[in-house]
Amino acid sequence: MKPVLFISDLHLDPGRPAITRLFLDFLQDTACHAEALYILGDFFEAWIGDDAVPADHPVLAALRRFTSESGVPLRIMRGNRDFLLGERFTAQTGATLLPDPTVIELGGERVLLMHGDLLCTDDHAYQQFRAMVNDPAWQQQFLAKSVEERAAMARQARQESTARNTMLAETADEIMDVNQGAVEQTMREHGVLRLVHGHTHRPNVHTFPLDGTTATRIVLGDWYEQGSVLEFLHGRWNLRSLPLPATAAGHQGG
Ligand code: MN
Repeated sequence: MKPVLFISDLHLDPGRPAITRLFLDFLQDTACHAEALYILGDFFEAWIGDDAVPADHPVLAALRRFTSESGVPLRIMRGNRDFLLGERFTAQTGATLLPDPTVIELGGERVLLMHGDLLCTDDHAYQQFRAMVNDPAWQQQFLAKSVEERAAMARQARQESTARNTMLAETADEIMDVNQGAVEQTMREHGVLRLVHGHTHRPNVHTFPLDGTTATRIVLGDWYEQGSVLEFLHGRWNLRSLPLPATAAGHQGG
């Protein structure tokens, strides 16, 4: 039996080469023996359109090699950072895009997969922004701009978001986590007792009562100081971190 693997929030960025290296090693050493690999959003730190990256982008090339050589199904959900991943990306990599949310069946159980930002309903400003950028008309307009214009807009959005988070500092912590009511309502709507998501960068396994039984919410960790992998094997779920090689950690420099 082979494991089914889940990761999210790698935030791959040329500025953090050790994490990209860790991911490429993970593909080669671990994921190639999996039943399937799920990436639940924010794979890239930023994505301003499939046409904005060079055809020989090293991560895309590695994904292409991975899917064609291993035959392992690669399923990617868009996150709030890489919500513009599209058809050209899937054609280049052999990945399949998953809608958010998606229900899969695993070990005879229905499992709800989400990026997680939809559950952060206390952050009203963010939900407004999310609705705007997920509007197909907005996306069409944005993608019609030049790569330079898009890059400038993305830079500005990041600066505004940093300023806003600093301003919110005291309340940000709670606002930016999931809303428990939204979690329960979403799980009810999809008829599941297990939810797997990322986004909040708070890796954990939460159990709580739901309609007279026990529900489980597994939160994947980010890939900043180390990797984070959720594995389903032989009916068991195991959330573990993936350490950076000692040499790479030494060169991380924060
Ligand atoms: Mn996110």
